[in-house]
Amino acid sequence: MSLLDSALVLFSGGQDSTVCLAWALERFARVETVGFDYRQRHAVELAVRPRIRELMPAIFARWGERLADDHVVRIDALAEISDTALTREAAIDIADSGLPTTFVPGRNLIFLSFAGAIAYRRGIKHLVAGMCETDFSGYPDCRDDTIKAMQVALTLGMDRRFAVHTPLMWIDKAATFALAQAIGGDKFIDLLLAETHTCYLGDRVNRHDWGYGCGQCPACRLRAQGFAKWKAGWKAGA
Ligand code: ZN
Repeated sequence: MSLLDSALVLFSGGQDSTVCLAWALERFARVETVGFDYRQRHAVELAVRPRIRELMPAIFARWGERLADDHVVRIDALAEISDTALTREAAIDIADSGLPTTFVPGRNLIFLSFAGAIAYRRGIKHLVAGMCETDFSGYPDCRDDTIKAMQVALTLGMDRRFAVHTPLMWIDKAATFALAQAIGGDKFIDLLLAETHTCYLGDRVNRHDWGYGCGQCPACRLRAQGFAKWKAGWKAGA
């Protein structure tokens, strides 16, 4: 990888993918973004994407020079084959399978396939995505082995070398905050807290020290715990 290369970031408007976007903007000369609209209940994520992209150049001018096209792909078929709390007004809970009911089976396989097709057509080798195995929610399509298998599948299936980067794979939410600060300082942390969205219920009304959200859903609890842990470590001078 070199600063001459281009990258495509799977950018949902959530905290993790926004950190991945910043990570990519520090490493690649040209960074495109892709988001997926599959009628997810927290469609507010899609709504915050353009504003985050607009605000990134205010952190570093070089980010503005490198940030390029955005793509939004509608995948209605994914909603049609899903029966989960993300796409229906169902409770977020743990199913008999041990997976949260927010799980859309194989969702990241589909996202990476579409992202690979876009990258191919745009002449882009590097894909960047926010999957994470550390704060394990039981999502098998977030596992490192799954992503590596997809890299091989895309490379073989399109006869083009792809590299899938997952900078958050082995760090927890507290370390993600620390990474964000290392990349973009306090201004980037402020942007993350004020503009990104991860709440499963799409709550943009209740503002906490860790950002907007209902405070109760698994995504909010994870984010709140990570923020508290990061703050505690930071205050201790860790
Ligand atoms: Zn929430």
